[in-house]
Amino acid sequence: ETGRVLSIQSHTVQGYVGNKSAVFPLQLLGYDVDPINSVQFSNHTGYPTFKGQVLNGEQLWDLIEGLEANDLLFYTHLLTGYIGSVSFLNTILKVVYKLRSVNPNLTYVCDPVLGDEGKLYVPEDLVSVYREKVVPVASMLTPNQFEAELLTETRIGSETDGRKACNIIHAAGPSKVVITSINIDGNLLLIGSHQKDKEHAPEQFKIVIPRIPAYFTGTGDLMTALLLGWSNKYPDNLDKAAELAVSSLQALLQRTVNDYKSAGYDSRSSSLEIRLIQSQDDIRNPKTTFK
Ligand code: ADP
Ligand code: MG
Ligand code: MG
Repeated sequence: ETGRVLSIQSHTVQGYVGNKSAVFPLQLLGYDVDPINSVQFSNHTGYPTFKGQVLNGEQLWDLIEGLEANDLLFYTHLLTGYIGSVSFLNTILKVVYKLRSVNPNLTYVCDPVLGDEGKLYVPEDLVSVYREKVVPVASMLTPNQFEAELLTETRIGSETDGRKACNIIHAAGPSKVVITSINIDGNLLLIGSHQKDKEHAPEQFKIVIPRIPAYFTGTGDLMTALLLGWSNKYPDNLDKAAELAVSSLQALLQRTVNDYKSAGYDSRSSSLEIRLIQSQDDIRNPKTTFK
């Protein structure tokens, strides 16, 4: 019920996105987490400027070879998030095969970060690489609405559309799919789907999440980490795992908004930095407030 996670994501010096958003919660849930930082930036790219370095595919592979030379490549989970280039994504594929040659049972949790609300934030040629090569080798996929639309080449305007998109993704490979949010009249609708075997229809569920009128960064990265953490503890109960993940996350977002308000900021004006450390009790022991 615990595990060893290789997490390949961004690192920011200040603030919580990518690995900064995923590593601490997974550690709180009892996982050994080995982070590889795909970039190291001063701050997230939503600020007016940022500085830093980008890791390329060869440099990623170097680190993998270093681990391999010392027999350190046994992982139960691989976790990936934002990836900015096709060459880096192709190296991720090599990492998946390499880790599975050491542990055939490796679970690959893939957040196919492509964009949000109709806008791509990666080069367009990444979309087909995800669709054709990465999705087929993923165990669990956690797209948002826009990403699920791009990967399934369908429009998602309703709960039914979301369930159908999950079926298309299952047919491509992953047995677990969570569409983390579909925008439906002011609310966020999460749709989860677990195909336990190929002969039966997947078990599907939804969670309605009231939209908080603010923008947060790092929530998608945190959500995927929590889904990894809880779905591994409840392997046959994706609905329970999602309830726990959403409950933690909503407590954290509420705390974030309240903190900004009491400091006198207008929480609608710009993107809010999540109160991750302050929410550690809500991550360790979520009160299940979302069903
Ligand atoms: P991404 O960041 O990849 O676009 P989502 O937008 O689906 O992912 O956000 C991930 C999760 O964060 C959602 O499932 C939801 O629980 C939570 N969340 C994000 N923004 C809000 C918001 N404004 N109000 C309430 N919950 C939010
Ligand atoms: Mg979003
Ligand atoms: Mg996301």
